[in-house]
Amino acid sequence: MSFQNPVFIPGPTNIPERLRKACDMSTIDHRSPLFGQILSPAREGVRKVLKSDNAEVFIFPSTGTGGWETALTNTLSDGQKVLAARHGMFSQRWIDMCQRLGLDVQVVETPWGEGVPVDRYEEILSADTNHEIKAVLATHNETATGVTSDIAAVRRALDAAGHPAMLLVDGVSSIASMDFRFDAWGVDVAVTGSQKGFMLPAGLAILGFSPKALEASRSAGLRRVFFDVQSMHESYAKNAYPYTPAFGLLNGLNEACRMMLDEGLENVFSRHNRIAEGVRAAANAWGLDLCARSPELYSDTVTAICTPRGFNSTDIVTHAADAYGVAFGVGLGEVAGRVFRINHLGSMTDVMALCGIATAEMCMVDLGLDISLGSGVAAAQEYYRMHRNSSGA
Ligand SMILES: *Cc1c(COP(=O)(O)O)cnc(C)c1O
Repeated sequence: MSFQNPVFIPGPTNIPERLRKACDMSTIDHRSPLFGQILSPAREGVRKVLKSDNAEVFIFPSTGTGGWETALTNTLSDGQKVLAARHGMFSQRWIDMCQRLGLDVQVVETPWGEGVPVDRYEEILSADTNHEIKAVLATHNETATGVTSDIAAVRRALDAAGHPAMLLVDGVSSIASMDFRFDAWGVDVAVTGSQKGFMLPAGLAILGFSPKALEASRSAGLRRVFFDVQSMHESYAKNAYPYTPAFGLLNGLNEACRMMLDEGLENVFSRHNRIAEGVRAAANAWGLDLCARSPELYSDTVTAICTPRGFNSTDIVTHAADAYGVAFGVGLGEVAGRVFRINHLGSMTDVMALCGIATAEMCMVDLGLDISLGSGVAAAQEYYRMHRNSSGA
């Protein structure tokens, strides 16, 4: 593997030089006022990225998985019912965590390549007249299949059913690269991690809690110690942590938010859309289907591309690493061997994407697929030329 090439795995993502430097700090006393000068703007920056006025932002030394656990254990009690859809590896793992925590999960089995089945959710919620379902789970961007679900529509389903359940959203591979509207969508808990859209090393679980979710954390019965948001909330009031914070990463997070807000959030999101459109144009030129079943599901942060029957898609990933020192994502779970993934989440430009597309193309030709060198690259080049951003960002 090369240390020079960008990676095209959907996390950890590429780290801009500016953020690597921001994380590299000499030790500070985390009980001194200096720490507050890092913590407050980092939490404030995340709140802006979430497009929220009143979410409380919590940042734990952990990863997205710890964020899932924080969301569940702070809002729910043993045996309570939650509604979730299984349509990829990440939604599956979150369901598995619910079950291991002793929650009663009503699972809606959904084909991989489809989004959260909003109509089914609405039927189930409408039928639940006793309001036994306490939380509805949604994976905003299924990283395994490259499928983005409509969270606003999940909120509409809850409202149409007049259902008071909390809405818990996994935004690990969407937040900070795709539009996420915490307040407008009525999200109660949003979860992400530092090494995806925030372009940092792994090490932070980043969450937003609505006032309703924070209120639920006062009585939620599941056990938690390290991930207790009430202890965190009390410490934040003193600009501190209940234990040792990862201050280098927090400084990086502060800088990452500043970078994105300087670029403009809408510009960040349109950059990701443009890059994704180029990757999709390349897949189309190769004559390969996407795992996502219809255009409204296409993810702007990761593209899962199906390879022809009888071909093992993992060979592309192995060959790219061995021959060219480039990392792509393998197919996971049900789509293992059938798709490979090109990531464009986090720090990414049109030019970086072109080098990933070119490498994938070389690998597929090396492995005997019926693809012409340059076909996908040309399709993406054409898209990027026609839609270029004058700032070159
Ligand atoms: C990466 C990812 C996770 C898991 O996050 P970790 O930081 O690896 O614990 C959860 N959900 C989604 C959608 C992801 O992409």
